[in-house]
Amino acid sequence: MKAVQLIAHGQPGQFELRDVPDPVPAPGEVVVQVQACGLNHLDLWLEQGELPVPVQLPRTPGCEAAGRVVEVAGDVRNWKVGDEVAVQSNLFCGQCEYCRRGEESMCLQPVMLGVQCDGGFAEKVRVPERALARLPQGVDFQTSAALTLAGSTAMHMLTNCVTVREGDWVLVVGAASGVGSAAIQIASQLGGRVIATASTEAKRVLARQLGAEVVIDSSDTKWSAEVRRITGKHGADLVVEHVGGEVLRQCFECLARGGTIVTCGATAGKEAALNLWPFFVKQHRLVGSYSRNSSDLEATLDWAATGKLKPVIHAVYPLDRTAEAFAALRARTVLGKVLVDPFEPEAEGD
Ligand SMILES: [Zn+2]
Repeated sequence: MKAVQLIAHGQPGQFELRDVPDPVPAPGEVVVQVQACGLNHLDLWLEQGELPVPVQLPRTPGCEAAGRVVEVAGDVRNWKVGDEVAVQSNLFCGQCEYCRRGEESMCLQPVMLGVQCDGGFAEKVRVPERALARLPQGVDFQTSAALTLAGSTAMHMLTNCVTVREGDWVLVVGAASGVGSAAIQIASQLGGRVIATASTEAKRVLARQLGAEVVIDSSDTKWSAEVRRITGKHGADLVVEHVGGEVLRQCFECLARGGTIVTCGATAGKEAALNLWPFFVKQHRLVGSYSRNSSDLEATLDWAATGKLKPVIHAVYPLDRTAEAFAALRARTVLGKVLVDPFEPEAEGD
């Protein structure tokens, strides 16, 4: 089969489209023919060699795959050839104390798809059967690949880690990102009044279309004061944050008394200063969120099936142009998700 392999780390990294042996399922595993696979910031970290886990090269990236089951191991009972599935990117062990109680996001022995094993930028991918979720009727492969990782991350943040109360001011940072575009939709449908930040006019238009009540320009250094002004000095009750660094500090500046910041990323910096005085006086809360539970992924797909959660797809690339997809995400100009479709015919012209 054909697979894109990362040969050398860098910015950009070196990729090659290669013919590799077809994957063979071990006990408890299935092989999925990939119909679409989403790109995420995780892939850029892998490309740049900046993940805090050892990575063996060559490696086929791709952590947000959707497709059709084409082979199952002899002991697999829950899946059959032809089933349409989404693949959970955090390949949880299914046996540790957290997995046993449905908290797969806290698994003690997780394996990251496309990082610690070969992922979905290939015609086929081999995964444990427990990592699959069935695609509900009406959810196609591209929709799934655009929501499976980022959308379910937002679902986990907003329905598992924190609670959105009716009428809460919910600040969503980075409206046009995968997490941001899903968080706006989820928070507003849970009754929140969403304020979104975005750096370009195109991204701000998208945020309004997705349900943000107010959209502010994140390139204005005084955006946190703007949040306070919009909310009548009340501040945001809840902040969905995934950028880190200085942005996280600014989120605290516009956080309401008793407000909560839930964060799942640190693309702009892994360290942030925290002034403890206002933190305890205003009884702020900072909640970390990571990955998702299987129940969050199922909820995400259900929301997509009923039309409550819509994928935002910026572009779909064929397999042999995967490196261009990486470049597009790195350039930070994309609106929503960049996908790779291994069976997409080569686009003509562009
Ligand atoms: Zn586990």
